[in-house]
Amino acid sequence: MTDSDKPRRVLLKLSGEAFGGGKVGIDTHVIRRIAEEIVPAVRQGVQVAIVVGGGNFFRGAELQQAGIDRSRGDYMGMLGTVMNCLALQDFLEQEGQATRVQTAITMGQVAEPYIPLKAIRHLEKGRVVIFGAGAGMPYFSTDTVSIQRSLEIHCDEVLMGKNGVDGVYTADPNKDANAKRFETLSYNRALVDNLAVMDASALSMARDNKKRIRVFGLEGAGNVTRALVGDEIGTLVST
Ligand code: UDP
Repeated sequence: MTDSDKPRRVLLKLSGEAFGGGKVGIDTHVIRRIAEEIVPAVRQGVQVAIVVGGGNFFRGAELQQAGIDRSRGDYMGMLGTVMNCLALQDFLEQEGQATRVQTAITMGQVAEPYIPLKAIRHLEKGRVVIFGAGAGMPYFSTDTVSIQRSLEIHCDEVLMGKNGVDGVYTADPNKDANAKRFETLSYNRALVDNLAVMDASALSMARDNKKRIRVFGLEGAGNVTRALVGDEIGTLVST
């Protein structure tokens, strides 16, 4: 079998901010729409793994500012990601899509533990695998986990779905009318210019392991499906 015969396998990163629709808690309309856009790609044979953030509930760094121990706040953040995973799982299952949630913090009643080989088997069987609880470790982010999981389960690329922006720009397009969108961008340029791809530790891990990242806008109708099937939307970050 040549590489081109292999089914496409991708890691979709969805931020908690998207799930919350800008507020604390979940915006079910947004999550339902994302679920509805994931299903057609899976039906076309794309293997879809997902990492969900938790910023719509808690971020450890913010809780620390409010006086909570950083590590404990980070665990609260990780637990928040699991609620998002369950919401996405529910909407996918409502669409008739088989799913599994795997968490980095064991919670047997609600999810499987993270077992990479098992995740790969689920993907091969056409199930969507949703990874929750980040890395299970404080001081990490779900961006870093997206790169790590994509490496461990051999994804072709990482798709970063963004809110309010449809790729990586020279400056914030919501503030600077002259901002231009990159079609392609190198890891080094993104790191040196501190461009809005993902956090720096995650981006360095992607660079060191040459993991391609496509940054795209979640909002446009059909964008999630397009990114999953491999349309060249948004910005491609690579060597
Ligand atoms: N978090 C963590 N370790 C991880 C992943 C997440 O400690 O491996 C915590 C951290 O406090 C983070 C929060 O969970 O702020 C929510 O995750 P993240 O900020 O990455 O979510 P997003 O910004 O994508 O919504």
